[in-house]
Amino acid sequence: MALSKFVDIPSNAKNIKILNYIGGKHVPPVSGQYLQSYNPATGDKLTMVPDSSKIDIDNAVFAAKKAFPAWSTTSIAERAAILNQVADLIEQNMYQLGRLESQDQGKPVAAAVSFDIPNCADKFRKFAKLILDGFNEVSLTMETTATKNSISKKEMATVTAVTQHIPAGVAGLISPWNMPLQMACSKIAPCIAVGNTCVVKPTEITSVTAFVLTQILEAAGVPPGVVNIVFGTGINAGEALVKHKDVRLISFTGGSLTGSRIGAIAGGLYKRVALELGGKGPSVVFKDCDIEHTITTNVRAAYQNQGELCLCASRQYVQQDIYDEYLQKFRQKTLSEVVVGNPADSKTFYGPMVSKQHMEKVLSYIRLAQEEGATVEFLVNPDAEHTNLSSDGRLTIKGFEGGYYIAPTLITNVKQSSRLVQEEIFGPVVCVMPFQTEDEAVKLANDTQYGLTASVWTLDKEKLLRVMKQINAGSVWGNGWLIIGSDMPFGGMGCSGTTREGGKWCLDFYTETKALYYPE
Ligand code: NAD
Repeated sequence: MALSKFVDIPSNAKNIKILNYIGGKHVPPVSGQYLQSYNPATGDKLTMVPDSSKIDIDNAVFAAKKAFPAWSTTSIAERAAILNQVADLIEQNMYQLGRLESQDQGKPVAAAVSFDIPNCADKFRKFAKLILDGFNEVSLTMETTATKNSISKKEMATVTAVTQHIPAGVAGLISPWNMPLQMACSKIAPCIAVGNTCVVKPTEITSVTAFVLTQILEAAGVPPGVVNIVFGTGINAGEALVKHKDVRLISFTGGSLTGSRIGAIAGGLYKRVALELGGKGPSVVFKDCDIEHTITTNVRAAYQNQGELCLCASRQYVQQDIYDEYLQKFRQKTLSEVVVGNPADSKTFYGPMVSKQHMEKVLSYIRLAQEEGATVEFLVNPDAEHTNLSSDGRLTIKGFEGGYYIAPTLITNVKQSSRLVQEEIFGPVVCVMPFQTEDEAVKLANDTQYGLTASVWTLDKEKLLRVMKQINAGSVWGNGWLIIGSDMPFGGMGCSGTTREGGKWCLDFYTETKALYYPE
């Protein structure tokens, strides 16, 4: 096994030339075509991303298939050691990776360095441990009814039954732009830990850190062809990957509509499909909550990562008795703490929207709120050095005039049936609505097509658990938010997804599970 070595990562994404990574080599797309990527904080050109096509995917799948026999039979100890090396190298390059993620995605450097990048390392380390702990064979002795001979006479027999997990083959891993490296790593780590090889198709909007990861994988000793990364659009490279006959499973994180399309294609080709999709998280706030703690957390839950988190609390239901107090404190907290601006500045809470196109989408929802007659407030912190705030919430930040900034937006007086409450906006926009009774709160929280995350706030422990259990979401937090145990399942219901990531749930997905029975 190669020893881990120094990885030379440029500090500016402008100096990075992104190439595909196939069979351990960096190669241009066969077509020679590239896509332009932009720095969302300035609107300036950042770098070029390969616009790969089916032929690049074919080459990458070929490399993954070739690498599979050796990697799937590599000892668990050796695979775990390589995964731990990847984790070490990510940690050693935490700041460089965080800075690049910020330039490409817009999130504050501080957020990337304290949340996104450590989580990437954590994924590799956790799955190294899980395979070392022995996930692949579970054996038990059981009484069964067995047909003993050709005359179908049934009698009881004692057999040993063994559950065996075997690597599934070549996996296609498709990831989104809101947590670019973290989402890619959360798929690559379990996938290769269990002995699969893969072709990764990161989002075309934020490709920089996935490219840098190729240097880390190589330095950590991941053999050529085990992880191949092909950059490009969803409709070309992504769909070619989903359709490829030699790709046995697809793990996708992204929008619900894209997931539906991918699920239909992959399901029709008898592939295993994991879908981790959008969210419209409710937060239910009862009058007997710890209001200061609730407000502090729910302001973060509304605006963290520019509101570009599938698990943001974008619908907040507050009991009527404290509704006015809640709104007043929510405004104060946002105005005092949510500083919008330069992502490299340590006082910045959130940065620009990821792209001009996405900014336009979010602004269109704010205009919709205004057209519908809802109350729309822009809560701009005085420290945000802005030179203009447009009527639809676009902020112009001094020195970053070309950036895609939107003010923290609070919407009230909005109907539950409005698209603002029903659809994922994925920006710094929160709807806060009143409710009267516990039953009504549960009904409102569940009145959605989504079911990814939710939170409930009350100091009454019985009520807390009662309500948490009734909310249809994959993760429900009581008096908290964004607590994700890496040994716990994470995923959604309804159009938030079909599967669970995390711990052993991942390992089930990334392996074929066999049942073996034999007489004692
Ligand atoms: P998206 O669906 O537009 O794209 C996601 C990925 O799919 C990209 O790599 C894209 O190129 C690719 N893609 C697009 N069309 C494709 C096709 N036809 N075939 C194959 N690949 C295709 O999503 P996005 O805008 O990048 O990400 C934001 C979404 O991701 C939000 O809805 C957010 O809630 C969701 N998300 C969910 C989770 C979760 O864990 N549930 C986590 C992060 C983000």
